[in-house]
Amino acid sequence: MRHLLELADGELEQWLAERKLPAYRAGQVRRWVYQGRAESIEQMTDLPRGVRDELGQAFVLWTGRIARHTRAGDGTEKLLLEWEDGHRIESVLLRDGQRRSICISTQVGCAMGCVFCASGLDGVARNLRRGEIVEQMLRLQRLLPAEERLSHLVVMGMGEPLANLDGLLPALEAASSAEGLGISVRRITISTVGLPAAMHRLADLAVPYHLAVSLHAPNDELRSELVPVNRAIGLAEILEAADRYFAVSGRRLTFEYVLLEGRNDQPEHARQLVSLLRGRTALLNVIPFNPVAGLPYRTPSAAAVRRFREVLLQGGLNVQFRQRKGDEIDAACGQLRRNGVRLGETPATQRG
Ligand code: SAH
Repeated sequence: MRHLLELADGELEQWLAERKLPAYRAGQVRRWVYQGRAESIEQMTDLPRGVRDELGQAFVLWTGRIARHTRAGDGTEKLLLEWEDGHRIESVLLRDGQRRSICISTQVGCAMGCVFCASGLDGVARNLRRGEIVEQMLRLQRLLPAEERLSHLVVMGMGEPLANLDGLLPALEAASSAEGLGISVRRITISTVGLPAAMHRLADLAVPYHLAVSLHAPNDELRSELVPVNRAIGLAEILEAADRYFAVSGRRLTFEYVLLEGRNDQPEHARQLVSLLRGRTALLNVIPFNPVAGLPYRTPSAAAVRRFREVLLQGGLNVQFRQRKGDEIDAACGQLRRNGVRLGETPATQRG
């Protein structure tokens, strides 16, 4: 059995042609998948019974199962999806006014090793396939009432998206195409730790996705402590790739900065950030640290955050201090999965 969502462009048409079935059946299937919100091939009721049976013998719509579904009072919903190999990832639906945003994962775990992040604590087990990335989008879409559509997509769940461009890019095509979910590429954000080679590859594609670069420190010494992968790369190369992405895409860049008490939240860090980013068409998104059980980091006090913000504003940076959403259901990277671990379930990555 193959995963229907794994098929590349034209593959379903080819499969139909081999069985002397009309090519327009492929369009019908896609409409059921992306617009009709079918939960199975059986539910694609305008396909003749015989076609449904044949499709059903060759393909499955879902390869994951929903291991847990949590809902917060602010409308945030989170799915823990378990794949056939037992690995688990998480995906989030956020409601904000008219916006219906989803946050999706690209890898099981993460290899980047950011010291404050729950996703990388056990390293990376594997990349997610395109179908597994699309399945997250569709599972979340089906949580919405029929009259509501997904409007925004952020690739900020588990994993480093630019370490899995081969899985991610076709999935984003399904998200943005008119036959797919129809989410405007301008409302799709890819968040990266900053991998220059992959950032260049993304720039060369010339699809104007919005790019967010996780900075977390204003100098290489501190960044290499907080974001270990930085040792092999360095800020200069990342900023150069980011500038080129901006030049090619025309999209304003976002830099993300998680504030950790006593580590990167001092006025001196803010001053260094000002000199690093001044003159760039960029937004600095400052995120309060979301506590992770077992990690020694803390969220700075409101006073420390205010001081930090003042220096940035005086320096003329374009800043945004992000609100947290979905706290009560641990809607931050990797946290739901880890809670499963804490509650005594066997972590998928450690199964025989
Ligand atoms: N690998 C990508 C996507 C990671 S998740 C990247 O590095 O950008 C998106 C953002 O959440 C990143 O900026 C990441 O550093 C941040 N993040 C990770 N753990 C966090 C935590 N406990 N609290 C707040 N932000 C966190």
